Amino acid sequence: MSDWTKIDTSIEDKPAKRWLSAMPEECDMCHTPLKGKAFVDGKTAFGPWAMMCEACHRDQGFGLGVGRGQHYDKNGVRIGG
Ligand SMILES: [Zn+2]
Repeated sequence: MSDWTKIDTSIEDKPAKRWLSAMPEECDMCHTPLKGKAFVDGKTAFGPWAMMCEACHRDQGFGLGVGRGQHYDKNGVRIGG
């Protein structure tokens, strides 16, 4: 039994519980200021990832979950995805 079996592969399945970067300033899609608002860091229907307000995520997002998107509240605490 070699050590590689001990590598924790669960990391990918557990996105950080908090947003660790600077809080996004505006929605990449509609440019609504995101200060004080919940936001989604997620994949868009077009392919690339974007920082989105909840409305844009509803319209143009690709859902929530690993490889799809993470939902954060206004304080950067992950509340979904
Ligand atoms: Zn938006």
